[in-house]
Amino acid sequence: MSISDLYQEILLDHYRHPKNYGELQCVSTSVEHENPLCGDRIKLMVYVSERQKLEQIKFHGQACTICTASCSMMTQEVVGKTLGEIEQIVHEFLQVMRGEQDSSVLERHGDLAALSGVIQFPIRVKCATLSWHALEEAMANYKI
Ligand code: ZN
Repeated sequence: MSISDLYQEILLDHYRHPKNYGELQCVSTSVEHENPLCGDRIKLMVYVSERQKLEQIKFHGQACTICTASCSMMTQEVVGKTLGEIEQIVHEFLQVMRGEQDSSVLERHGDLAALSGVIQFPIRVKCATLSWHALEEAMANYKI
C-alpha cells in the first residue's frame, strides 16, 4: 500500500465514522461556518473548563469528505488540550495549508498528515480549513 493510498484510507475512515460527531450537552461556545464554494456546513460546539482546557468538542453538519474528515481529525487532536496548545496546533495547520510551512510538520499530529495531499488542490483547501477557522473563532471568545 502506498502512502497516498494509506492517507486516502484514513480520510475515508474519518468521513464514514467521524469522531466527536453529534450534539454537546454542556456547551460554552458554538459556532457555525460554511463554505459556499463546496456547500460545506458545520456546527462546532466546545466546552472549555475554568482551567482553560478544552474538555469536550462535538460537531455536526453537511460537508464533503475532506471537510468532514478534517473536522473529525481536528476534534480528535485538540480535545483535552489547553487553549495555548490548541492555538499552536491551529496556527501550524493553517500555515501548512497556506503553503507557508512544510507539510511534514503534520506528521507529528497523527492522522492530520493524511490531509497534506489537499495542499495541491487550492479549491479543496477551504474544505480542509473550514472547521479550523470555526475552532479559531470559538477559541477567540476565551482570549484575555
Ligand atoms: Zn468541501
